[in-house]
Amino acid sequence: MSTLFDGVRLTLMAAPKSDRAPEPLDLLRVFVNTLDYPAGPDALSTADAASQWCRHHGLPPVSNQRELQRLRGFREALRELFFANNGEGDPELGWQAMQSFLEAARFAIALRPGLRPELEPAGAGTERAIAMMLAIAYDAVSAGTWQRLRACKKSSCRFAYYDHSKNGSRAWCSMAVCGNREKAQRRRSRERSG
Ligand SMILES: [Zn+2]
Repeated sequence: MSTLFDGVRLTLMAAPKSDRAPEPLDLLRVFVNTLDYPAGPDALSTADAASQWCRHHGLPPVSNQRELQRLRGFREALRELFFANNGEGDPELGWQAMQSFLEAARFAIALRPGLRPELEPAGAGTERAIAMMLAIAYDAVSAGTWQRLRACKKSSCRFAYYDHSKNGSRAWCSMAVCGNREKAQRRRSRERSG
């Protein structure tokens, strides 16, 4: 499959329903897929591009290079955790990478009679954008939907999707693109070693 296809997949094609997470959790999947891992294209390539993406998704814009790096760092920490949700990588390292974002995030707690308690993201700029996404992650972890946000098991792909399968066993972004390719590769290396 050509790289062009991979790029186009990100920018032009809406995700199939089978990949989409329930709202508002889907924002995290879309966010992680702004980079066609590992080398791009990247929808957050510049502060301007990232600001446009953020505004489009209801998040505060990026105001400088430092914020851009921070936002991109958060994206890769999330990807690592999605990869760990697929039984790959090291979950401990993933949570360690997330630590600086968790520590910097500021929230107020909204307690209103008759309503579910909520985290209210606080702070400004990119830290606020990150807090908004962490509040979504917080709800997903408590609801038990977090584990279903995965990054494709093929380590050079790591495309994010939501696993809707009954037994939670979907390992690939696409069986046709990654699953079969990986299987063929394993078969070839088995034949070589055998
Ligand atoms: Zn894949």
